[in-house]
Amino acid sequence: MAEADVAKRAEKLRELIAYHSWRYYVLDDPEISDDAYDALVRELEQIEREHPELVRPDSPTQRVGAPPSDQFAPVRHSQRMYSLDNAMDEGELVAWLERTTRDLGRPVRYVCELKIDGSSIALTYEGGVLVRAATRGDGTTGEDVTANVRTIKTVPLRLIGPGAGATVEVRGEVYMPKASFERLNEAQEAAGLPVFANPRNAAAGSVRQKDPSVTASRDLDTFLYQVVEPERFGLATQHEALEWLRASGFKVNPDVRVCASTDEVLAFCREALERRHDLPYEIDGVVVKVDSFAEQAELGFTAKAPRWAIAYKFPPEERTTKLLDIRVSVGRTGALTPYAVFEPVRVAGSTIARATLHNADEIARKGILIGDTIIVRKAGDVIPEVVGPVVALRDGSERPFVMPDACPSCGSPVWRPEGEAVARCVNAACPAQRLERLIHWASRGAMDIDGMGEEIIARLVDEGLVADVSDFYRLSEERLAALPLGRVKKDGSPVVLGPVVAAKLVGSIEASKRRPLARLLFGLGIRHVGATVAEALADAFGSVDAIAAASAEDLAAVEGVGPVIAASVRAFFDNADNRALIERLKAAGVATSEERPAEMGEQPLSGLTFVLTGALSSMTREQAAEALKAMGAKVTDSVSKKTSFVVVGESPGSKRDKALALGVPIIGEEELLRTLSTGQPPAA
Ligand code: NAD
Repeated sequence: MAEADVAKRAEKLRELIAYHSWRYYVLDDPEISDDAYDALVRELEQIEREHPELVRPDSPTQRVGAPPSDQFAPVRHSQRMYSLDNAMDEGELVAWLERTTRDLGRPVRYVCELKIDGSSIALTYEGGVLVRAATRGDGTTGEDVTANVRTIKTVPLRLIGPGAGATVEVRGEVYMPKASFERLNEAQEAAGLPVFANPRNAAAGSVRQKDPSVTASRDLDTFLYQVVEPERFGLATQHEALEWLRASGFKVNPDVRVCASTDEVLAFCREALERRHDLPYEIDGVVVKVDSFAEQAELGFTAKAPRWAIAYKFPPEERTTKLLDIRVSVGRTGALTPYAVFEPVRVAGSTIARATLHNADEIARKGILIGDTIIVRKAGDVIPEVVGPVVALRDGSERPFVMPDACPSCGSPVWRPEGEAVARCVNAACPAQRLERLIHWASRGAMDIDGMGEEIIARLVDEGLVADVSDFYRLSEERLAALPLGRVKKDGSPVVLGPVVAAKLVGSIEASKRRPLARLLFGLGIRHVGATVAEALADAFGSVDAIAAASAEDLAAVEGVGPVIAASVRAFFDNADNRALIERLKAAGVATSEERPAEMGEQPLSGLTFVLTGALSSMTREQAAEALKAMGAKVTDSVSKKTSFVVVGESPGSKRDKALALGVPIIGEEELLRTLSTGQPPAA
């Protein structure tokens, strides 16, 4: 960037940061995520590091928080209230631990505390009586919120124990427990009032109310962690100060540990991360402090933060990143699924760069534009998900996504039936669909051809060796061994699969011929036939031929199969190509009928259909379903007149209501256990 552009960018960043810290600190109503805000600050810090001439005394990098609002009387702090420097990962934390040890020139003892995600507060006591409570403000001047803080039950109005009668300032965090936060937002919503972004903003907002009775209604709590001028009370270390606070009547967080090594500090941080969601209040990291006050004094402060403490921040569960593109993939049923391609980011422990966007409606609903800064997270901590765009960070270059009207794989026209969310490529010979169908057949839930992964299948298709699923069964070991993998060795010769992998694959292909009928039905990829429906069909008919011969009515009579599924199954078997495929599979030796072990005879629960709802205490629903099936019962997902019993556990869903409405007998866990142990069907 040219010099003038850098100065302009720095100015723009300062403006943005000032605006967002005002929204955050003064209005308690942030517009962007913390991560997006931190990214702006980090960018400005980087520019200021490279161009020190651009640093201004009023730069947000040199300041803490925001100036106090004029709603409250200003309080000048007796000693500055600092922010904390951050360690964004374990590497930065270790570097900080090494630096402090080196700077002090001796082994250091640290105190690890949880970083409570609330709002900082300074409490002044005179003669042991609470006289003032102040917010941090800009670190030098805070706001007088005494009347409000007096309403917080854990703040002692008069000190006891070692603090009795003392004139002292103590500092800590006001926070809102998670449950209170949820209740508050529900109430705000019900009253048509704005909701708070997170418990931290809710706590800060509640402390800064004009009317103390509002604060009193907000269920705030406190943890204190600092004594100002501790030497006056004979305190030499942070852990002694925490003890003193506790003994004087303050609420002090119990999760504190004195650590003498890097490993001990890291262990504390990892345990805290693990337990984070079990705590009744939010924490966003761990604060590591040098324990000895004499050593703290040696290390001193920067403009913003002490050098003797660091905030180790947990890996964020939501991150912002740049949406580079929205592309479209073609599934095995021809469904066109848009997906986001973004700059790789680490979220909850792994790096992600793509996330499905499901369909065009979803993109429109979330208001996502290509080029947006987007918030991403992992749903259920596994599947990457785009939460939405950060509209405030748009610069005008963003553009909307348009669903292509031709299939990106085969160029055939795309069809989106009226009223459906999904657009489809309707060309059954579409190469992308074909590849996905082959991958599905070999997948674990279907025929489970161990080792037959996407890459090998793609190569087999490219080489013209496999066009449909029956071709897997004609592959010879020699041909597989010679399969080029599309890479070359140093000497220019192609890398091939080789005899060892080929032999294993042939073994897996052979083993897949004897999979249960339900797996085969699922593997065929008939529309609407998922694993559960496949199982119902296999149970009811016992062979592919019987299913192919069944009428739509016969099919629809099966529990869990409605007219739509029945029509789809019929359409599949009415297609001559599909019937030919089944014949080829049979010829290759793939089992297409269920071998029903004759010796098993009638099982105790055969003919009965169960539906499970709610949580069981002695086992999971899946375990209960397995146990019932092992005794010959059927287990389905939805309640109908054909259901024999509905098993109801803790917090059942709507299935219980449906059972009541239809008059289907309901049994509890005890009755279920009795049935499983005696083999006697429950009494209806
Ligand atoms: P911080 O919250 O990252 O850390 C400092 C604070 O930690 C201290 O002031 C103290 O109140 C608190 N703390 C909690 N437990 C502690 C303990 N045991 N010992 C010591 N201190 C403890 O820093 P900050 O300066 O208060 O705020 C910066 C944060 O605010 C960043 O995470 C930033 O993303 C966010 N922010 C967001 C926006 C936005 O628009 N989203 C705007 C401004 C700031």
